[in-house]
Parts: sequence; structure tokens; C-alpha cells
Amino acid sequence: MSKKTLPIGHGEMLELAYQLPTPFYLYDEKAIVDNARNLKKLFSWAPGFCNYYAVKACPNPTILKLLSQEGFGADCSSLPELLLSKASGITGKKIMLTSNDTPADEFKAAYELGAIINLDDITHIQALEEAIGTVPETICFRYNPGPDRTGNAIIGNPVEAKYGVTSSQIVDCYRIMKEKGVKHFGLHTMVASNELDGSYIVETARMLFDLCVRIQKEAGIRIEFIDMGGGIGIPYRLDQEAMDLAMVSKEMQKLYETIVVPAGLDPLQIVFECGRVITGPYGYLVSKVLHVTNKYKDYVGLDASMANLMRPALYGSYHHITVLGKDKQPCDHTYDVTGSLCENNDKFAIDRKLPAMQKGDVVVLHDAGAHGHSMGFNYNAKLRSAEYLLKRDGSVVMIRRAQTYEDYVETLRFEGSMVEV
Ligand SMILES: *Cc1c(COP(=O)(O)O)cnc(C)c1O
Repeated sequence: MSKKTLPIGHGEMLELAYQLPTPFYLYDEKAIVDNARNLKKLFSWAPGFCNYYAVKACPNPTILKLLSQEGFGADCSSLPELLLSKASGITGKKIMLTSNDTPADEFKAAYELGAIINLDDITHIQALEEAIGTVPETICFRYNPGPDRTGNAIIGNPVEAKYGVTSSQIVDCYRIMKEKGVKHFGLHTMVASNELDGSYIVETARMLFDLCVRIQKEAGIRIEFIDMGGGIGIPYRLDQEAMDLAMVSKEMQKLYETIVVPAGLDPLQIVFECGRVITGPYGYLVSKVLHVTNKYKDYVGLDASMANLMRPALYGSYHHITVLGKDKQPCDHTYDVTGSLCENNDKFAIDRKLPAMQKGDVVVLHDAGAHGHSMGFNYNAKLRSAEYLLKRDGSVVMIRRAQTYEDYVETLRFEGSMVEV
């Protein structure tokens, strides 16, 4: 069982929801920082342990800076993410470019920032050289185990995945790069998404440790770091349990001692690229009820829509809903909770048991701190919501203002400003 709590009391949250325009996102600074510290502590045995926070999970420089102060790096998959990391004070080897189908300007920007470049494909060796005119001192390759590994439920079968270098290509990749003068090597994989079974992560570590030994044997190349990717899940549902990260760490340490150390590969740096498990549980989408209606079913219509939080509509994901001030009331009504997009899948919940709802009620959607605001979009010309940070001292600061109509039309060219090509 997981528990869904709020970082401040219902009364305080209600006050905030009536003081600020809804919908908005609220992130809990203390919980994010404590969580980052806890992860670091759990892996304190691991040489050079670092989590490169996946910027796409919450691309807000205030959050990135908080994590950077805890020693985290940034994992990027686009040029703007690289620039956001730089703007957050994260540079050099604290940036990882884990991209795929990579444009030349991303390679170039990553190289100029001194970032670690993680190549997704054997043909990207040439693409990288063409983009930057040389090879970097350090290179990493993304490994796709293919049929050697069954994928997790969400990321799917590795054979069908577009990512990574195959088992038969991987050793050649390192050989080629060594011949070209690369000095330092890393090995990456990402075979899970929103996984809650810790043993899956442990098996991924085993796979990478074994592969380091194979690369050492077959090519005489020493891998200096492994990047376990992201994909650690969070318990969105009440009946789910958080991953037992203490167990994962302990089992990984055992494998390190039985595989890495005897092969003479110690110290081997261990890094992750987690996003979801770092900030996911500590972000909340706060929204007001605009309408409660009865058609063939009962509906609660919010002022937020899937343009603010796409996960339920996109994946059928569960996000727990707390109705502020009604926590003592029985959840004896069944509603579909919707947004206002002209799309019937614009629903945050289907057949959700809630207390009796009224117009003006304020709801909090939990676990929206990763892949929440960042997945937002502008369909129906819906404007993106603001983001706020609840600071340690209890104060609340705006860390992104809401999008305005002026922002939305800024890129349009009207009569008189149209550009002839
Ligand atoms: C999305 C992604 C991550 C982060 O995934 P989480 O589920 O947020 O941990 C890390 N690395 C890569 C390459 C990704 O695409």
C-alpha cells in the first residue's frame, strides 16, 4: 500500500487554490531534496555514484538547480534540454546526452558543453564525427540486449525498441572508437519504464556488469562507468508499493563484488538517469471543479485538462485524486473526472469513487511531479499552467508563470509581419 499525502494541510492548500489562478502545479522542495539525498546515501558504496536527472521529467531550472546542488547531473535528449541544463548551472561531465535519431546540432552543442555523449547507434559514430569534426575523449554507447532480455511491460520487447546498439555490434563500437583515439568509455542501457520490481533493475546491473567483462575480454577495453538509465517506477495506485531501493542497492553491491571486482574492473562508476522516481511523487496538479453534471453518467468537470496532465489520456494512467476538505467524507459517488478539451479521452479518471462533489471544490492530482507539466501541450489553444515551489520555510514561489494569450500567438505571423521565403 502506498499513502497519498499533501505537503501542507487541506486548509492551507485550499487557501492557495483560491489565492492563485488554477490550475497550477506545486512542487515540494523539501521532499525532492530529501529524496535525492536518500538515493545518494543508499548508493554511497558505489564508486562515483550520480543520478543524471532526466530533464524531460520536469524541465524547470529551479528544480534542476535544486538537484544539481545535491550532486545530480542532467540527462538530455534535445538541444533545448542541453541549453536548459546549462542555464541551470549544470555543465561538462554533469550533462549526459542520451538521445536517439540525433540531429547534428545536438552533438555539436553537447560536445561544446563538454557533456558525455551517449551514442544510440553504430552509424552515429560517423554522424558524430561529421557534426563535431573529431571524436570526444569520452564516449558512451546505449546497449539494446534484444532477445537476450525480456522487456518490462511499458517499454516493451527490446527487439521492437528503436533504441540502442545490438549485442553483435556493441564490442565493435568500442573498438572503432578506441582506434579513433577515444580515451574513456561508458556503457548505457534503458530497458524499463515505470518499473516497480526492483529485481528487474538488479538484473539490468548484472547484464551491464557482464557486458563490461565481455568488452574487456574481447576488445581489451575497460569500461569506466555504467549508466543504468531511468525507468524506476513510482506507486501511482494506492495498492502499489514503491520499489525497494535499499534491496536494489544491496543486490547490486553483491553483483559488483562477484563480477566487477574479480574481473579487475573496480572502480567502475555507477550512474542512473532517473526522472520519475526523483520528483514524481512530490509534484501536485491543483484544479477547481467548474461543473458537476449528470448525463448517462456523473461527471466532474475541472478547469485543468489533458493539456495540463496528459498521462491519464495517453496511457490510461492512474493519478490519485484528493478532494480538499472532504477527506473525512465517504467516497460513495462514482464520477468521470474530465477536462474541457473537445476530445472524449480528456479524462483524468473514469468511474472514480469520490465524495459527493460540488462546483468550486478543489482537487489535487497526485504524482504529477514528473512527466506532468512537461508533457503539456496547446491543443484547443489551451494555455500551459504555472508552476510553484513550496519552499522549506513554507513560503510558495512561482517558478514558471502561466502561459498567456500573447505567448501563444507570439510565433504567429499576421498580415504585415508574414515572412516571404
Ligand atoms: C525518459 C528517460 C529517462 C527517465 O525516465 P524515468 O522514467 O523518468 O526515470 C532516462 N533516460 C532516458 C534515455 C529516457 O528516455
